[in-house]
Amino acid sequence: MDLSVIIPIYNEEVNIPTLYARLRSVLDAMHLRCEYIFINDGSRDRSLELIQDLAARETDVRYINFSRNFGHQIAVTAGLDLSTGEAVVIIDADLQDPPELIPQLYHKLQQGFEVVYAKRRSRQGESAAKKFTAKLFYRILASITHISIPVDTGDFRIVSRKVVDALKQMPEQNKFIRGQISWIGYRQTYVEYDRAERAGGETGYTYRKMIRLALDGITGFSDVPLKVATVSGFVVSGLAFLVMLYTLYARFVAGDYQPGWASLMVSILFLGGVQLIAIGIIGEYLARLSANVRRRPLYIISDTNIPVPELTRVP
Ligand code: UDP
Ligand code: MG
Repeated sequence: MDLSVIIPIYNEEVNIPTLYARLRSVLDAMHLRCEYIFINDGSRDRSLELIQDLAARETDVRYINFSRNFGHQIAVTAGLDLSTGEAVVIIDADLQDPPELIPQLYHKLQQGFEVVYAKRRSRQGESAAKKFTAKLFYRILASITHISIPVDTGDFRIVSRKVVDALKQMPEQNKFIRGQISWIGYRQTYVEYDRAERAGGETGYTYRKMIRLALDGITGFSDVPLKVATVSGFVVSGLAFLVMLYTLYARFVAGDYQPGWASLMVSILFLGGVQLIAIGIIGEYLARLSANVRRRPLYIISDTNIPVPELTRVP
């Protein structure tokens, strides 16, 4: 197998026919041995039916049907686990990632790179809030981690079998695939493109899922937040010490003291806030630690037309 295309699907019934047609015409023109892997991530519409129809008609279409919605990153992971291609493309189903870019990605990969990611030159049809938060997130992450995770890139990319094999050795529960791929290293490069609007349907990424992905990215690839908690603890304690000296001075030397309601309230609220933030940060790491200790399988497959020995994967 030369090329596997991994397509996570969550309520994409309106996009699947066009997506498949466009992918097919691009890949047919490349004259490679290809497989299409659709992962149905607990869709509540007719997506599963559509991809099962495709799989029944075409021998190179595979599907993986999850037992429920496990999330985009896990869906992509399942696709990577069960892919067999020498090169693997990860692409969104909503046509925001143009299939027509795949030959370019593939061509670059053939020049001796192990990863070619697609970098967004511009993005259309997304709310200002989403663009702003995404930009902010990529830059914060870049500034607090040692590995260089490229800014303004999603998971649309092509990777070699070497990279897939390396990814399979990374058992973390909280996946942030673009970070993991950066962590792996090798020669990486990019191709720029203009990100289109979602062709139809609605985004499956709610703000809740986005915040979770952002926290997975940060906690998975940086300890800086923990250090910030520690440092702010020291800074606040230092300030508190100075205030204490002043209080003692005012009480015993200057004799100039008042029943200080305002200052008490301010310091209690401030200290309480700092402590809660610090505990919250520790909690985020701890929650992920405990998820990894449980060692549950990352996903449960309800059915698939790919022959696999076991239907689940234990890290
Ligand atoms: N997706 C998924 N599971 C989810 C949410 C999304 O498999 O829980 C898929 C979705 O079908 C699409 C891709 O992940 O192929 C990207 O999602 P979406 O376009 O909704 O995200 P956005 O582009 O708005 O960030
Ligand atoms: Mg999208």
